[in-house]
Amino acid sequence: MSRDLPADELRAAMHRVADLVADYLEGVGDRPVLPPVSPGDVRRALPASPPDGPEPIDTILDDYVRLIEPNVTHWNHPGFLAYFSITGSGPGILGETLAAALNNNAMLWRTGPAPTELEEQVCAWLAEMMGLPPEFRGHINDTASSSSLVALAAARHRLPIDVRVHGLAGRPEVPPLAVYCSDQAHSSIDKSAIVLGVGQENVRRIASDGAFRMSVPALAEAVARDRAAGKLPMAIVATVGSTSTTSIDPVAEIADLCAREKIWLHVDAAYAGSAAICPEYRALMKGIERADSLVVNPHKWLFTPVDCSVLFVRDPALLKGAFSLVPEYLRTGESSDVTNLMDLGFQLGRRFRSLKLWMVIRAFGVEGLRERIRHHCAMARDLAGRIEIDPRFELAAPVPFSTVCFRARLSPGSIEEQDRFNERLMARVNAAGPFFLSHTGLQGRFTLRVAIGNLRTEPVHMTALWELLTRSLDELAA
Ligand SMILES: *Cc1c(COP(=O)(O)O)cnc(C)c1O
Repeated sequence: MSRDLPADELRAAMHRVADLVADYLEGVGDRPVLPPVSPGDVRRALPASPPDGPEPIDTILDDYVRLIEPNVTHWNHPGFLAYFSITGSGPGILGETLAAALNNNAMLWRTGPAPTELEEQVCAWLAEMMGLPPEFRGHINDTASSSSLVALAAARHRLPIDVRVHGLAGRPEVPPLAVYCSDQAHSSIDKSAIVLGVGQENVRRIASDGAFRMSVPALAEAVARDRAAGKLPMAIVATVGSTSTTSIDPVAEIADLCAREKIWLHVDAAYAGSAAICPEYRALMKGIERADSLVVNPHKWLFTPVDCSVLFVRDPALLKGAFSLVPEYLRTGESSDVTNLMDLGFQLGRRFRSLKLWMVIRAFGVEGLRERIRHHCAMARDLAGRIEIDPRFELAAPVPFSTVCFRARLSPGSIEEQDRFNERLMARVNAAGPFFLSHTGLQGRFTLRVAIGNLRTEPVHMTALWELLTRSLDELAA
């Protein structure tokens, strides 16, 4: 007898799952992006206790169709324009499915030869696609938050204070560490500082300029001030594609400062790094090739299902120095130059994430991926153009990639009234169903945000969004 689901039942269920997946993706645009549920609704619909006996797979899948599928926020929806919109493309779904079947845990080369080597090769492909120098070595983490944490741990390891062995507490000879990033940097940098014992108050949030780019003179001043006060600069984080506006820090100038001051340069390109596969976008990012570490999330803008974050480092020996720890039961006979992925971070076990990225890159081709990114940027430029010539709106930030920050103009109206008006406008648009926008704060003002990154988003959707936005604005103003 089969203790697992018998092969013939699995085969039949997989066929049904194939239909569910294809039907869902084909029809996702007909649903409201945000499900009509309130907190607690899903939980209340679920049995309080698990079943004692086996339930037929078809019954479980029926419940999936009834309870789960309609009650997710549809990130695959062409009208999902909030945060950074993403798509787990068809090829990515296939890779994710096959990875689940293999259930491989490539902590050591021995425990996953093909997953280990595919991960190295796919990361090398991605480095080449992005125009990064060949010495960059990549590996895959779950999220950019983890990638940045790992990178900053390597930066800390490079300091002459051996935190790995001695820790930080109770050492009067160790000065406070400092990490520098702009006031637009992602909160994951602060979280890394919390985890690494740097402390939130030692994250220097450097002022950004009118285009939301880190001010290099202010950065240099902060470093000098810290050095004079006996603090130990640990890393500078440059953001390429900041989360609010997709602004790009002047990486080349920051790299000069890092070289002069011998400070680790980490580049957070979680979203916009993908655009580097288009040669015309590389000029905007000049300097990223000089980073000590760089993170890019294929799960953000390279059509790979969450989670998939690639961390590139110039010197993998530093990562290993920070993290490698081999207990007796994990020793193998392989030569020491074989890659054991467990040496490159804090986690031991790992999912086989490179399979989906490999399938995406091959199924679309590099040119196909470029074409899709350019298409998103073109739609964003088109929306920005509509906003610029319409006196009812104003652009709130430059649009270097596929994200547009803007505000409705209410005149006359105080800043507070304008903020409330924009908030109500966003709520009205989101309540209509076909679109989901989010917001950010820029210079203290409530700012609407449209982020285009979904494979299903087309100019017809952008036109419909514009009609809904202008109509909602006119209704609210009346
Ligand atoms: C989205 C984003 C992150 C965080 O990504 P996760 O993978 O969700 O941790 C970090 N930095 C930037 C610039 C981002 O846009």
